[in-house]
Amino acid sequence: MKHTEIVHVLQTEPTINELTIRGWVRSFRSNRFIAVNDGSTIKNLQCVINFENFNQDQLKDITTGACVEITGVLVKSQGQGQTLEVQVSSIDILGTADPEQVKLTILSPKRHSLEKLREQAHLRVRTNTFGAVMRLRSKLSFAVHEYFQKNGFNYMHTPIITGSDAEGAGEMFKVSALDPKNPPLDDTGNVNYKEDFFAKETNLTVSGQLEAETFAMGLGKVYTFGPTFRAENSNTSRHLAEFWMIEPEVAFNDLADNMDLAEDFIKYVITYALENCQDDLLFLEQRLIQEDKSKPMAERQEMTLREKLHFVVDNNFKRVSYTEAIDILKNCKPNKKKKFKYPIDQWGADLQSEHERFLVEKHFKCPVILFDYPATIKAFYMRLNEDEKTVRAMDVLFPGIGEIVGGSQREERYDVLKQKMKAMDISEEELYWYLDLRKFGTCTHSGFGLGFERLVLFVTGMGNIRDVIPYPRTPGNAEF
Ligand code: ATP
Ligand code: MN
Repeated sequence: MKHTEIVHVLQTEPTINELTIRGWVRSFRSNRFIAVNDGSTIKNLQCVINFENFNQDQLKDITTGACVEITGVLVKSQGQGQTLEVQVSSIDILGTADPEQVKLTILSPKRHSLEKLREQAHLRVRTNTFGAVMRLRSKLSFAVHEYFQKNGFNYMHTPIITGSDAEGAGEMFKVSALDPKNPPLDDTGNVNYKEDFFAKETNLTVSGQLEAETFAMGLGKVYTFGPTFRAENSNTSRHLAEFWMIEPEVAFNDLADNMDLAEDFIKYVITYALENCQDDLLFLEQRLIQEDKSKPMAERQEMTLREKLHFVVDNNFKRVSYTEAIDILKNCKPNKKKKFKYPIDQWGADLQSEHERFLVEKHFKCPVILFDYPATIKAFYMRLNEDEKTVRAMDVLFPGIGEIVGGSQREERYDVLKQKMKAMDISEEELYWYLDLRKFGTCTHSGFGLGFERLVLFVTGMGNIRDVIPYPRTPGNAEF
């Protein structure tokens, strides 16, 4: 028999017709009320049994974690907490779950810490919090594609294994099929990668940007959305070794167009979540309100989750040059009182997360786009400004997150790019194809990278990036 998903059951009017649902038991109270969840919505369906009609053998298997198929009639609920419920006529236990063993897992119906959930990552999708986050993650992915597809972008699949290690976006993972115990050596005693699978050194990609640029120079507007790898040993709540990055690249866009695109895109996907994920957002919002109650007043959120999302959608991002930002930071209280771990004393300093968050959370109190950074702290491909000191880079900074987007207008002038590569010791030979773009019909173009998990962090209000990806890869951890 076909079953109906609970999300649809909850949208129907009570009738005398029977329906069937399938899902997992969240709780079974008073030998009478079964709360079933099937993942189609955060909401459980209350199923009411008249225990006199069922034998003890059947009842004993209705336990938290068990998988059930229930047939019955949908009626208006007598009790509080739900409007509809199912009056059960038959119940099939599809998969039992031994209560003694369930007790030892995060399936047991009580509050578990997020750390505990991470240890049992294979089960955590059956909790309210993680279920809500993963449904939102899925919807947000769809919104990303919808935005770009609606706006005439081509989705491009950039290689995951790359032969260039010049990009310098982060430390790379090596890819090799050589026997690590006994690798072939060359005359000088170094590993001879010519004998490796690809006949050269290869790595997992840190960014699809350079390849995306090649496609923008033919298709005009492209975007990537795929896995990205960084072997950076930064054990923070905002870094993963494997994350998903979205990288649009657009011919004829200058830096201002690039900022417009980033802002419009972010607002679109957040609006999509507000409109299409109301139940999950409401749940996560309540969760944060509860969490706040155990915090000192000063640390509590000024806005609820949905207020925060609306605020981002309804207000312009503040655009501030690096130079202006340095002035603000140099003269701000925490800098003068030596509260920053990395004090800001002069123009040219790289901004740390503490500075970014000060600007966004304390000074401007809204999302900020910083632009025109010193050339010395940014990548070789960013377009040099007329002052010859700064490049057309931009970072979008978000409250609670810090950097969510990093992007730039690209250097389109052959000679300037070549010179820059030389100065930064980047192999012309290896990136000949990248230089070719500047030889054959070069043009102004721009793009950015947005870390998808940082976006999911912001929209869900979660605090740790490990809790917004199914199976996080971080230093020392590749479980599951
Ligand atoms: P950060 O300074 O935060 O480490 P980055 O400057 O190294 O970031 P970029 O190289 O500009 O970042 O990458 C583009 C975007 O990818 C970032 O804005 C961020 O959203 C995301 N990102 C970068 N590194 C990671 C990571 N290790 N885990 C998750 N997301 C990341
Ligand atoms: Mn980084």
